[in-house]
Amino acid sequence: MKQVVLEHPGRLAVSDGPPPSPPGPGEALVRVRRIGVCGTDFHAFKGDQPFFSYPRILGHELGVELVESPPNAAGLKAGDRCALEPYMECGQCVACRRGRTNCCAKLEVLGVHVDGGMREIIKVPVRKLHRSESLSFDQLALVETLSIGAHAVGRAGLEPGETVLVVGTGPIGLAVIQSAQPLGVRLLATDVNEARLEFCRRQMGVEHTFATDASAEEALREATRGEMPTVVFEATGNPSSMERSFGFVASGGKLVLVGLCQSKIAFSDPEFHRREMTLLSSRNALAADFKRVLSAVEAGTLDTRPWVTHRASLADLAAALPSWIDPRTGVLKAMVEV
Ligand SMILES: [Zn+2]
Ligand SMILES: [Zn+2]
Repeated sequence: MKQVVLEHPGRLAVSDGPPPSPPGPGEALVRVRRIGVCGTDFHAFKGDQPFFSYPRILGHELGVELVESPPNAAGLKAGDRCALEPYMECGQCVACRRGRTNCCAKLEVLGVHVDGGMREIIKVPVRKLHRSESLSFDQLALVETLSIGAHAVGRAGLEPGETVLVVGTGPIGLAVIQSAQPLGVRLLATDVNEARLEFCRRQMGVEHTFATDASAEEALREATRGEMPTVVFEATGNPSSMERSFGFVASGGKLVLVGLCQSKIAFSDPEFHRREMTLLSSRNALAADFKRVLSAVEAGTLDTRPWVTHRASLADLAAALPSWIDPRTGVLKAMVEV
């Protein structure tokens, strides 16, 4: 069974791995057909992903085909095409008991904490498979990224007519935008990269964008008649951008930190209190987010066509992945075909 192993930072190697053992009750063997590659994989490759151990098989954005499973309650059978929810929760901790499996205290994410999908066959729990009869494997592999956006939007509890700002228009920011769009909100987006903003306007239909430069607050005040957005999604994970985003929020508004960083961030408490702001984080996604995104893509209300910009085969991945790290290659989503 062909697999790609990240042996240590900077070294991906194709090798022959042992086939997984037959699936037990509640398990399924699936053939991996598509693997989306994202920032998490790039950080693991570069060696700056904290708490990451090597060797590791990456791959957590998966479009799969079921090969074998004992009869199961979901009725999944050989040949079914599915998106895979890669978050393995313990089911016991306080978060899990309250349905918050996305932030399980002992969470193991496939391709991050345990070996993932950069291989031909993988054994997974049946309950983590989300079947679709109509989506392509590319679309199925995009469901994870899109669900992270859907989860963040769900956290914010958007109301129609609100003005919403997305800070950072990389994959996570775009996923937020696509989940927020059908909710009848007014969307604004900002980024330091003008090419990304143009993509936002042209491909994602966001009318109002502005550069995250020295006059960003002023541009925002102008665009909102001085009121500022009632919800701001921060999707850069850049500490100074996260700190600055506190100043983008309207009185009574919310800030949702979707991007994460590895340091402390600081904010002015008087400003925070004066506006009685709500601060939220958003991590991963829930099964319900996967289901919602899958239905929206099936219905065509969530357009995946702009997403895939680069491709490689599993065999070519070791050569291709380092080139995708360079932002000048214009990668939005690179897709590996297995
Ligand atoms: Zn990812
Ligand atoms: Zn748990």
